[in-house]
Amino acid sequence: METVILHSCCAPCSAAVLEWMLAHDIRPVVFYFNPNIFPQAEYEKRKNELTAHCQKLGVEVVDGDWDHNAWLDAVKGLENEPERGRRCTVCFSVRLRAAAKLAHDRGIARFTTTLASSRWKNLDQVNAAGREAAAQYDNVQYWDKNWRKDGLQDRRNALLKFYGFYNQTWCGCEFSYRDAQKRAAEIASRISAQSNKTSI
Ligand code: SF4
Repeated sequence: METVILHSCCAPCSAAVLEWMLAHDIRPVVFYFNPNIFPQAEYEKRKNELTAHCQKLGVEVVDGDWDHNAWLDAVKGLENEPERGRRCTVCFSVRLRAAAKLAHDRGIARFTTTLASSRWKNLDQVNAAGREAAAQYDNVQYWDKNWRKDGLQDRRNALLKFYGFYNQTWCGCEFSYRDAQKRAAEIASRISAQSNKTSI
């Protein structure tokens, strides 16, 4: 049985990947390292849900640090980038470099990430960050399996409902929260304008 480091961002993105690994004779070691998530209460909420799920499955969880200030330093100057832009490239890189280091330190040959399972993320951008992170070490490879294929996207949605996971409404950082709020306000104003038109 091969052991693989699975960098995980949250329970909804992880459940189908974990299920697939366990069914394919792979022992995942979940690495929760997401210093991008803000505020801390949100970080703890996502971490606790994932940890509880892993405990039920008997999967080890390695709890990374939440150094949000260091993460803010890393993305300095990119605060107004759109999602899937340059800030996200740095954000993926910070997290996957730590995953590669954990794999290296523990003598585990491969790591992968649940970031690659979310249809909200740019897969090429995630994979490029994973390969760049792996290149730091001779003995570590990034596993670029497409975690959205082989029915895993549907399975993700089914497990989300089955386990009743918390439904996140923004990617993680305060900048994505700001943008999500803006989008919601725009939608609300469009709906209100539409209903005013139809009631005239
Ligand atoms: S939007 Fe998401 S991926 Fe992009 S920087 Fe923020 S937390 Fe990271």
